[in-house]
Amino acid sequence: MKKRILVLVGAMLIGTGALTLVSCGGGEEHHEEGAHEHVMYQCPMKCEGDKTYDKAGSCPVCGMDLKEVD
Ligand SMILES: [Zn+2]
Repeated sequence: MKKRILVLVGAMLIGTGALTLVSCGGGEEHHEEGAHEHVMYQCPMKCEGDKTYDKAGSCPVCGMDLKEVD
């Protein structure tokens, strides 16, 4: 039983590592049309005024999570 858990944890770690690699190194994202039309992200503190980003993430100025705007 313990072995099984170890295998599971190992698989999870490998999966997480792969995901991290993909999200960090990828850069190329294919947006499917229709699902999220024209979704923009903006810093809730408006550090950069009305500047919007086309990807979710964190504000480069204050580090807060960007908020979805439309
Ligand atoms: Zn900010």
